[in-house]
Amino acid sequence: MSREALKLAKPKVGFYWCASCGGCEEAVVDLAEDILKVVEAVDFVFWPVALDFKVKDVEALKDGEIAVTFINGGIRTAEQEHIAKLLRKKSGLIVAFGACAHIGGTPGLANFSDRNKIFDYVYLKSPSVDNPAGIVPKEKTVVGQGELRLPRFYNAVYPVDQVVDVDYYLPGCAPPPDLVMKAVEAILSGNLPPRGSILSPDKSLCDTCRRKVTKPEKAVIKEIKRVHQTLLDPERCFLDQGVICLGPATRDGCGERCINANMPCRGCFGPTSRVEDQGAKFLSALASIIDANDEDEIKKVTDSIVDPAGIFYYYSLAASMLGRKVE
Ligand code: SF4
Ligand code: SF4
Repeated sequence: MSREALKLAKPKVGFYWCASCGGCEEAVVDLAEDILKVVEAVDFVFWPVALDFKVKDVEALKDGEIAVTFINGGIRTAEQEHIAKLLRKKSGLIVAFGACAHIGGTPGLANFSDRNKIFDYVYLKSPSVDNPAGIVPKEKTVVGQGELRLPRFYNAVYPVDQVVDVDYYLPGCAPPPDLVMKAVEAILSGNLPPRGSILSPDKSLCDTCRRKVTKPEKAVIKEIKRVHQTLLDPERCFLDQGVICLGPATRDGCGERCINANMPCRGCFGPTSRVEDQGAKFLSALASIIDANDEDEIKKVTDSIVDPAGIFYYYSLAASMLGRKVE
């Protein structure tokens, strides 16, 4: 079947979530009455968060029988990898839905740590933990009734295309409803861009931002401030106010949701096709507007950035050249 399945009435569609917060599933609900058009046009065959299909139902389908599967979240566990591979086999198209599937997203920031450190903090050391027996999750546990199994928790989060081939990407945290609807319509009509495309404009957020008239062209920043440390002018470019905004390194298409709410961009749409590493691109943009000449002055400005790696790679660490911390 594969692409031919799209041409048939009621193509089969799957939804699956991996390492994500559930916000992408909410984005589907945010389609509001448009969801009725989707439900009318397609036949859902797998959607664990909403419908009671089982993995064996997917296994029973022919290869390529699902016209399109939308996967949100990065791959963190062996179970997610297994199901992503199964869905790849059974689907004509795989769409990486949302920032975490596309570039790892905020769960990918855990790549600054590894599995042991995460378990140690989450199950033993976090101030809210009450675990005197020091129990941490195990892949196998024997109880009176038999053996309990948990999927392996990997050392890192992987964007979906590092595990299976991805046909299209819908960026954003979460992808905005208009972009989702446009993608669904393109998929249903078969009017699709080249395979591998990211379904949003290939230009930077600054290109369409209404604040770009005040975006600094020369060195102006003497100090980096966080949003709660200053009264933000709702009309002026954040960078001109000394506040980090990842717009120069981020792809357009979100409708400037954060900017319109007087919050700087954190980069959830990922980079344009001309940028290999979103964090490095932003670092270069920032370096050109720091108003300091000698090393001490420069250090003073850069020291005022709290958690630089975390902020420059807020969404894209797992897909970046750094990828993950290696001890
Ligand atoms: S840096 Fe941010 S506020 Fe400034 S023009 Fe770009 S997107 Fe707009
Ligand atoms: S402004 Fe930036 S962080 Fe906010 S939705 Fe748009 S791309 Fe994402």
